[in-house]
Amino acid sequence: MSETFPAIVAEKTGDGQKVELREVDEGFLMEGDVDIAVSHSTVNYKDALAITGKAPIIRRYPLIPGIDFAGRVIASRNDSLREGDEVILTGWGVGEGHHGGYAGRARVRGEWLVPMPEGMNGEQAMGIGTAGFTAMLCVMALEEQGVTPEMGEVLVTGATGGVGSIAVALLAAGGYEVVAVSGKADAGDYLKQLGAKEVMGREEFSGKPRPLNKARWAAAVDVVGSSTLANVLSAMKPGGVVAACGLAQGMDLPASVAPFILRGVRLIGVESVYAPPEKRLAAWRRLAGELDKEKLAAMTRHIALEDVFAAADEMMAGKVSGRLVVDIA
Ligand code: NDP
Repeated sequence: MSETFPAIVAEKTGDGQKVELREVDEGFLMEGDVDIAVSHSTVNYKDALAITGKAPIIRRYPLIPGIDFAGRVIASRNDSLREGDEVILTGWGVGEGHHGGYAGRARVRGEWLVPMPEGMNGEQAMGIGTAGFTAMLCVMALEEQGVTPEMGEVLVTGATGGVGSIAVALLAAGGYEVVAVSGKADAGDYLKQLGAKEVMGREEFSGKPRPLNKARWAAAVDVVGSSTLANVLSAMKPGGVVAACGLAQGMDLPASVAPFILRGVRLIGVESVYAPPEKRLAAWRRLAGELDKEKLAAMTRHIALEDVFAAADEMMAGKVSGRLVVDIA
């Protein structure tokens, strides 16, 4: 038998799934042309859903969850990657339909991997992870729509979460006046350290949405969806742009068309899983250059593979602030 490595494995049971940490060997891995020694993974919202079984994220069993990882190539049958290359993986259905990052080894398709940008290491890459990559895609989406700092305040919802924290830090670094929305009573200092100039309570966005409200926001990054997003839309300035990427409150959108047809508001969907390679490369290079490494370290908590289960419960209970890095190597 070949060398074994630890892995979190989800198995189907009669009435649901069983997820446990155990030893597996290379024969357990799926098809792919690049083998990676995983150094770090993370716990994203989607991972928490997968581990707790709260949503049908896992599409085949047995499966190693973990939608992202960083590590070093240890064997490559792909012309563009060599042994020793440091790489990042996010998305592509990894941790959903293909074995993911909660293991000492991964085997994936070379096209799915992004080379580690200069000035970044595996620990930082997973401090960012899918959440931070998505935050960067949201910032890029606002820019593609012509948003600039002079246009006014930018709102970030779910601000203490993974996407929210990194969106706050990136926008502040880009010169934007960032207003952060959080449901955590003690989030003020944390969010101000990341660069928010003002912190608002979640309850201010949780009432029944009106078609139009007093126009305040030039742009917004929303990770929450549902009535929060509807309330954000109704308070956008004319021509305002909202980048929507999440559903932490819900998948519904009880909104009116009024902001779109009376104020020309634009609602831009952001999707990270199948983002094209050139966009990934651009986003990761910008993250390496623009995200303050000290702020990233300050928002990151390190956990071991066996702690992923408790962390997933904590995340589902909405108690996590910032990012969780899983130290694997
Ligand atoms: P986190 O759990 O880290 O953050 C979510 C934050 O949302 C929480 O910290 C909390 O912030 C807020 N929140 C949670 N529940 C509620 C609620 N009921 N009502 C209002 N606010 C709430 O998750 P991530 O940052 O990793 O992900 C955020 C969202 O983005 C998820 O829905 C995730 O699925 C989605 N996502 C989408 C991607 C894509 O490709 N489109 C990629 C990555 C993530 P606070 O306490 O500060 O209010």
